[in-house]
Amino acid sequence: MKVLILNSGSSSLKYQVFNMENEDVLAKGLVERIGSAGSKFSHKKILAEEIKELEIVKDVNNHKEAISLLVDALQDKEFGMLTDLSEIKAVGHRIVHGGEDFSDSMVIDDKVLSVIEKCSELAPLHNPPNILGVEAAKEYFHDTVQVGVFDTAFHQRIPRKAYLYGLPYELYEKYGIRRYGFHGTSHKYVAERTAQILKTPLEELKIITLHLGNGASIAAVKNGMSVDTSMGLTPLEGLVMGTRTGSFDPAIVPFIMDKENLNLDEINNLLNKKSGVLGLSAVSSDFRDLEQAEEEGNQRAKMALEVFVYNIVKYIGSYYMVMGGIDALVFTAGIGENSNTIRERVCNYLNFAGIEIDKDKNDIRGVEAEISTDNSSFKVFVIPTNEELMIARETKRLSMML
Ligand code: ADP
Repeated sequence: MKVLILNSGSSSLKYQVFNMENEDVLAKGLVERIGSAGSKFSHKKILAEEIKELEIVKDVNNHKEAISLLVDALQDKEFGMLTDLSEIKAVGHRIVHGGEDFSDSMVIDDKVLSVIEKCSELAPLHNPPNILGVEAAKEYFHDTVQVGVFDTAFHQRIPRKAYLYGLPYELYEKYGIRRYGFHGTSHKYVAERTAQILKTPLEELKIITLHLGNGASIAAVKNGMSVDTSMGLTPLEGLVMGTRTGSFDPAIVPFIMDKENLNLDEINNLLNKKSGVLGLSAVSSDFRDLEQAEEEGNQRAKMALEVFVYNIVKYIGSYYMVMGGIDALVFTAGIGENSNTIRERVCNYLNFAGIEIDKDKNDIRGVEAEISTDNSSFKVFVIPTNEELMIARETKRLSMML
């Protein structure tokens, strides 16, 4: 069974084709700069012994045109693997916000689509392009089942005491202002993988999953569910990130707006794009640059990394307490998978709690490994995330239920 996975952003469209018999990726690619000059289409056909790459530079005006490029590539004699589009049995979409309506993936019908549209209010940058992707896919895959996999779904069972903010309750009732959490597909994937590695049902484990990428979030996973997570109504809350502030005193917002004479767009831009380790260091939001700058003696880079690590440790501490212990700590995403120094610094804070990592085992990038010593009071893993595979599995699962 072949499934197509789409991840539609405002100006990009990423895709992968999976053979779900063995979960192999048959093709993947990306259309960049949709809607502006210099759009580029990059496609890879993946064979056991070689990769065939296709690149097309041409203006792509909208998501429908983007999908037409990949549809052609998938049926191309040289770069494709389909003789007919009907070989794609289901299309899975990454959808960022499912609000309170979806605690699981959904087959997208008109009703589900209208709820996703309603949730655009909560994710104005993400849900509208996700919807464009669904609509464009429908044009080419008329009779094919379309499945939505939501970033928020895994966190939908977080208890009320963890999702409510200390705001007037009516604001929750009127506008749905509460913690939703994001990166759910990734947190769920690595939590499930941890359970497989430990050969223990996920329902019996307490796991803290650290998704540390450009956007970063932590989840407390207990009884097989996310019971708390660091991102909130939007992905701005929680950890200090590449360019986002993370949590801070909300009174700072009107203060800065007043002092710096900023309007709503400008303050949003400052909090989302100019803050985090980039704002602190004035070096970069990329941890490779920051680590190098620190090595060269840049004090601001050193400071930004200290703040980043410290905030992670504070969340681990609070989730350790609310779950009543931890069986495993899992690092994933760009920084979590690749930066042995960030992992080491985080774990060093936890030595007092009996956690011990092995320097040699930790000296890895982008591969799955247990990095704790045999004496460690709980296990520490690096598990590369695979949100696309998770979406493909969900897409297969739901389409088989029809
Ligand atoms: P996103 O999907 O949120 O855009 P990723 O999960 O791809 O982000 O993570 C991207 C980040 O991973 C980069 O900004 C960079 O900081 C970090 N990263 C990637 N490789 C390394 C590395 N070798 N060492 C340290 N950090 C790395």
